[in-house]
Amino acid sequence: MSVTQVAAYAAPSAKAPLERTTVPRRPVGEHDVLIEIKYAGICHSDIHQARDGWGEGIFPMVPGHEIAGVVAEVGPGVTRYAVGDRVGVGCFVDSCRTCEYCLRGQEQYCVEGMTGTYNALDRSGEPTYGGYSTHLVVDENYAVRIPDALPLDQAAPLLCAGITLYSPLRHWGAGPGKKVAVVGLGGLGHMGVKIANALGAEVTVLSQSLRKQEDGLRLGATHYRATSDPATFTELAGTFDLIVSTLAVPVDLDRYLALLKVDGALVNVGAPEEPVSLNLFSVITGRRTLAGSMIGGIAETQEMLDFCAEHGLGAEIEVIAADRVNEAFERVLASDVRYRFVIDASTI
Ligand code: NAP
Ligand code: ZN
Ligand code: ZN
Repeated sequence: MSVTQVAAYAAPSAKAPLERTTVPRRPVGEHDVLIEIKYAGICHSDIHQARDGWGEGIFPMVPGHEIAGVVAEVGPGVTRYAVGDRVGVGCFVDSCRTCEYCLRGQEQYCVEGMTGTYNALDRSGEPTYGGYSTHLVVDENYAVRIPDALPLDQAAPLLCAGITLYSPLRHWGAGPGKKVAVVGLGGLGHMGVKIANALGAEVTVLSQSLRKQEDGLRLGATHYRATSDPATFTELAGTFDLIVSTLAVPVDLDRYLALLKVDGALVNVGAPEEPVSLNLFSVITGRRTLAGSMIGGIAETQEMLDFCAEHGLGAEIEVIAADRVNEAFERVLASDVRYRFVIDASTI
């Protein structure tokens, strides 16, 4: 059966609440799989975009790029997946496939730009619609396999939050003997703590308050410090090899750079809506690096899922019915999430 119109939750215009609607899905092509979506995580990026905080949003918008489901149909040329397979889709559904980054498996940095899972135009010029929906049609090369050891609801957030932390932690060598700080214990941050700990690093959480300290230590952190306490910044100066900031609001770069050792790196993955400023002495002294990182490629996303399955690292989730999505957005904005909302797609 090819689906043409599917149920979804969409923001009809910028800043409007999400409401139930239907959106088109293309017929299953030669290399496509039809996925029956089971769960979709709510990423803070969904909120930035549905409220047009990054600008140039395409409406109506169906957010959702943390998608876990089951293959319901395959095109005649599909070789990787069969009906019934457990699969995931993350932040992009296509790329040019020929540039140096695509060939290297870093499709997220495609020279022509990756095709976003939603809030984008696909290569035929049609808008893409994300995972707050019942079904999705995607090229098999842009889906990943979810290992049996990971429950689908706990796996969904790994498709963005998991890979967004796994990729820089691997790239900057988080592991035994390394002191790693994760700034912000939200959706991304809590996966960062779990993954950095599983990689063997000594993990510190830098959170606004000590409210979630017990959770942070349970998730794998050795230390938990409040950024509202000025002593945190004096006592931890020059301590870390790597700091990953997940803040959705502008980060005080100079303050966090001062916490790095010589040659340490501050990697920012948070995507605030306003620009930030920097005193260059913060990087000159200590030969420090300020970097950013965006999700991860398809092969690395598969590697991350396999790693998480092996180490039993699902996301900590609160499963909600789709009609609670607007309330969930508000709770994420208020840092009131432990640690990812996941929509049960059967309620759409
Ligand atoms: P989230 O669940 O809301 O977590 C962000 C955390 O930041 C909060 O839980 C909170 O943790 C902390 N925070 C500190 N100051 C805050 C403030 N004034 N207001 C609100 N939160 C504050 O968000 P997320 O889904 O992890 O996403 C975080 C950011 O990463 C977003 O900007 C998102 O768009 C971006 N993102 C980037 C990528 C990428 O590829 N680079 C991928 C996905 C998402 P504490 O209470 O512990 O301080
Ligand atoms: Zn995301
Ligand atoms: Zn490319």
